[in-house]
Amino acid sequence: MTAEILAVGTELLLGQIANTNAQYISQRLAELGISVFFHSVVGDNPARLEETLKRALDRSDIVITTGGLGPTKDDLTKEVIAKAMNRKLVFHEDILEKVRDFFMRKHRIMVKNNEKQAYMPDNSLVIPNLNGTAPGCIIEEGEKAVIMLPGPPNEMQPMFNESVFPYLKQKTGLVLVSKMLKIFGIGESEMESRLIDLIEKQNNPTIAPYVSQGEVTVRVTARCPDKEEALKLLNPVVNDIKERLGDFVYSEEGETLEQVVFNLLNEKKLVMATAESCTGGLLAGRITSLPGASGVFDKGFITYSNKSKVDELGVNQETIDKFGAVSRETALEMVNGLRKKTSAQVCVSITGIAGPGGGTPDKPVGLVYIGVSVGDRVVCKSYDLMGNRERIRNGACMRALDIIRRLILGLDI
Ligand code: ATP
Repeated sequence: MTAEILAVGTELLLGQIANTNAQYISQRLAELGISVFFHSVVGDNPARLEETLKRALDRSDIVITTGGLGPTKDDLTKEVIAKAMNRKLVFHEDILEKVRDFFMRKHRIMVKNNEKQAYMPDNSLVIPNLNGTAPGCIIEEGEKAVIMLPGPPNEMQPMFNESVFPYLKQKTGLVLVSKMLKIFGIGESEMESRLIDLIEKQNNPTIAPYVSQGEVTVRVTARCPDKEEALKLLNPVVNDIKERLGDFVYSEEGETLEQVVFNLLNEKKLVMATAESCTGGLLAGRITSLPGASGVFDKGFITYSNKSKVDELGVNQETIDKFGAVSRETALEMVNGLRKKTSAQVCVSITGIAGPGGGTPDKPVGLVYIGVSVGDRVVCKSYDLMGNRERIRNGACMRALDIIRRLILGLDI
């Protein structure tokens, strides 16, 4: 089966936005074993859209369009495609109700233009849009299909995942089995160099690496007529990747690092406590955002000022004067203070310079010390983190979680 992605929008042609929708959809189609031979981009122009659609339908089984489904005059995708495929647009009262509902929920006034969104091509499958007002649709024509999705990625992606992916999967008649390997502590390029030969020769299973917020995810997907066969293809590749990446892999099921740490604490009946300076409670927030946190989390101190480090955790004023608040010595006294003040078996301290100000040549922005104790073992690690304040604070949390995971599992730090 072949597919073509047709992105509609003058903004794309002008280079104001990048065509990330095509990238996303192509990656997902690869998992289904659907070959994508063409990406096209066309502006908000009816004649050129019609011409591009016809060419796409001539050479591909499935055409997926994104963009141009909104309420304004230049949003023409549905109208042009319906006309080209000889379908009338028919009014759907239930869609108009949903659009009205959407505006009510957002406390916004619905203008008349929005009624246009309740008209769908005759005899098409409507794809609901829970995050916006423009529904998508699928028009089938013999063995071929045109699938229309809105432009905003936060609307398009859930619609693709919830409606289009299952529709296409059923069309291919294949079973898909995936593993989501989550990786931390190794850069994207190092990871790629370890996997490059596998990535280059991938076919079935597909191997798709993604990077977001310092975390790397590798989705491995096998497709076969039945699950047993798919697992037989999947497992050896997953094991090979795990062997190559070692204990940088912290989950096979796509869990977050905090979820993995939470599960470990739960399993081992351990309770944790935190003393955070530059992360200001972010780490405690991550753990306590998970349901059931009361079973694994005792107490979190936000000791932002020097005084609070002394008063709340018993850090020596002399230590701060001599070595500074951002130092190995202070991080260790913070974590040791926690061990005395709480009965938690896992204690964590974080102190660092999140920036943008406050850095010096000796102690630049991004310098972070993390102290962790599990039982009687106490470690302190320092990091030079890159990026803005948010990235540094986030990076410090992730590293703290990874140290906890490693200490509990007895892995190298
Ligand atoms: P809306 O109801 O929001 O108007 P729409 O289907 O009409 O939806 P467009 O108006 O074409 O969508 O695009 C809306 C926004 O979606 C663009 O400003 C852009 O931010 C994003 N977008 C559109 N096409 C793409 C694309 N191919 N890749 C990434 N983002 C896109």
